[in-house]
Amino acid sequence: MEPPVPETGPRDLLLEVQRVGVCGTDRDIVAGLYGDAPEDADYLVLGHESLSRVAKVGKRVRGFKEGDLVVPTVRRNCHENCLNCRNGESDMCLTGHYREHGIKGLHGFASEFAVSDSGFVVKLPESLVDVGILLEPLTVVEKGITQTFLMQKARMKWKPTNALVLGAGPVGLLATGLLRLKGLDVSAVATRPKASLKATLVERTGAYYINAKETPLANLEDKYDVVFEVTGSTSVALEAQRLIRANGIVAFLGIYKYQELTEDAGRLFTDLVLGNRVYFGSVNANLTYFRQGVEDLLRIRKQWAGFLEKIITRTARFDRLDEAYGPENEEEIKTIIEFK
Ligand code: BGC
Repeated sequence: MEPPVPETGPRDLLLEVQRVGVCGTDRDIVAGLYGDAPEDADYLVLGHESLSRVAKVGKRVRGFKEGDLVVPTVRRNCHENCLNCRNGESDMCLTGHYREHGIKGLHGFASEFAVSDSGFVVKLPESLVDVGILLEPLTVVEKGITQTFLMQKARMKWKPTNALVLGAGPVGLLATGLLRLKGLDVSAVATRPKASLKATLVERTGAYYINAKETPLANLEDKYDVVFEVTGSTSVALEAQRLIRANGIVAFLGIYKYQELTEDAGRLFTDLVLGNRVYFGSVNANLTYFRQGVEDLLRIRKQWAGFLEKIITRTARFDRLDEAYGPENEEEIKTIIEFK
């Protein structure tokens, strides 16, 4: 089905989509586990990770012109316009009635043309044309790291030395890179062998790669100041609490399958209390994190040439969506769809 070229309101930008990224959320939507179509549609256009050029500027839009390279954020304010939504923090929406492009109630960007409210769009320098598609996943990490540091510094004197990243997909790799730029010793865990591309990319940042098939998490003896859980696996998430030091913090960034578990919840809560530990969840990202992400894409690229480019392992054409959303191959990290 060919969606029509959308109408552009006075505050909107018409976007000529260049590329769209595919992530676990998209795969869950395709599998029918997640996602909602817009109210007036019986289908949902996918694609919340995107990179576009401005094709038309609404009458009341300032600061954008035709041809600008841009990325729109994913989430839009709730109907009630709650405290956080009206203060530019729809990522912290209180009501849960927010909408998300390509995920919940709004079409995504996986079409030749799309429209976004210009108040939710960030400009990118031309030098990021090849890797700008990684901005949206990076913003999820930006928010997690910013909030980690804000919370910890508000609670005590905090000088973290090390971090553990559970998972080395696009989000795990970007978290590894940003935590390295923060000066931490970082270890990243995944299940691919030491010779895999994922492991090579982890090591490229100076981080240490742990193959969980050789060294199961339960055997890890080191403790960490910061743990980032990005696998989305419930059992891995439960292991995370054992791996933090006193005063440590765990950020959960995955969407976990509901599952009954026979864990000792008493021990878990006592460890939290006696270790002054913090567990927190983080989802989505507002414009501030997108702006920060643009700066950090430039910093990462300067620090480790080729790192970002290599995260993109497969490029499918827009007329080969079966390839894009099909099964992942052995070395797959990020698949993108090319519209141009
Ligand atoms: C997206 C977020 C979104 C979340 C939940 C993630 O894949 O990156 O922007 O909030 O899914 O819908």
